[in-house]
Amino acid sequence: MSHVIAFVGLGHMGGPMAANLVKAGHRVLGHDLAEDALAAAAAAGVEPADSAAAAAAGADVVITMLPAGRHVLALYREQGLLAAARPGTLFVDCSTIDVADARTAHAAAAAAGHRALDAPVSGGVMGAEAATLTFMAGGGQGEFAEAEPLLTAMGKRAVHCGSAGAGQAAKICNNMILGISMIAVSEAFVLGESLGLSHQALFDVASTASGQCWALTVNCPVPGPVPGSPANRDYRPGFGAPLMAKDLGLAANALTAGGVDAPLGRRAAEMYAAFAAGEGAELDFSAIVRTLRPRNGTTA
Ligand code: NAD
Repeated sequence: MSHVIAFVGLGHMGGPMAANLVKAGHRVLGHDLAEDALAAAAAAGVEPADSAAAAAAGADVVITMLPAGRHVLALYREQGLLAAARPGTLFVDCSTIDVADARTAHAAAAAAGHRALDAPVSGGVMGAEAATLTFMAGGGQGEFAEAEPLLTAMGKRAVHCGSAGAGQAAKICNNMILGISMIAVSEAFVLGESLGLSHQALFDVASTASGQCWALTVNCPVPGPVPGSPANRDYRPGFGAPLMAKDLGLAANALTAGGVDAPLGRRAAEMYAAFAAGEGAELDFSAIVRTLRPRNGTTA
């Protein structure tokens, strides 16, 4: 079934996602505050709208892909997106935002007579371009069933994780595992270096033993063992350290709100925040390994 979709937020992720909806045969009305983002989307077949509200007024599904929760909530409420849409419109927020903000967004949509789904993604800009994203969705079964064909036009898989906010919860829990495990793998390589163990020897053992994980076998933080990992191209992202810092910050907020200790998750959030604010600002998150070596120690 073909939809008229309002797509707000046509940046690194939203631009190619909207283009994939056009390719799948939908009519997409797009809006972004940035002229260049809007122009790039228009070149891919998205119809530019003068405002987000104007796009929403003519659509039966509204998708947002924005930097943070405050942007989503301001757009929904103060900037009139919910008020502009026809009653019963399905609002799908694909941004990565606080679980609490996602629940507020669901409640605001319901109060305005609409339906909502939180559906953050994993897979990065390459996944957005190639339509291989994974979506993690929170909301009602009916809303998920309606959105699923659109999500799978932009990705390879959509998982219904539970009620409002469950998609955001799954996203930050997964990325907390990833952030901690990248630091763990990096510490192991640095310890190995100090013991005279080669990167390849540690990789050959750990990748087929109980230390095996994605941070080691796909995004290996030292150059050599996994030729495609960002470490082999001076840590060009990949998954940028600032995005990891953002997601771990959201996880830390949720830990505090839920009264959960998680000392490693909190420490990982601190380490990535410091790294992303300094030398890691433009680097893949695996470059955190550089901060773990003794100052007078060996280098990779
Ligand atoms: P981006 O900064 O490239 O894009 C965000 C876009 O939103 C910008 O073009 C901005 O102009 C626009 N925008 C902001 N406020 C607006 C408003 N009120 N109305 C219209 N447009 C508005 O960011 P991105 O990399 O595309 O990330 C988007 C979301 O996806 C974030 O929540 C991010 O955490 C998440 N995410 C990103 C990646 C990634 O690899 N980049 C991976 C997974 C998830």
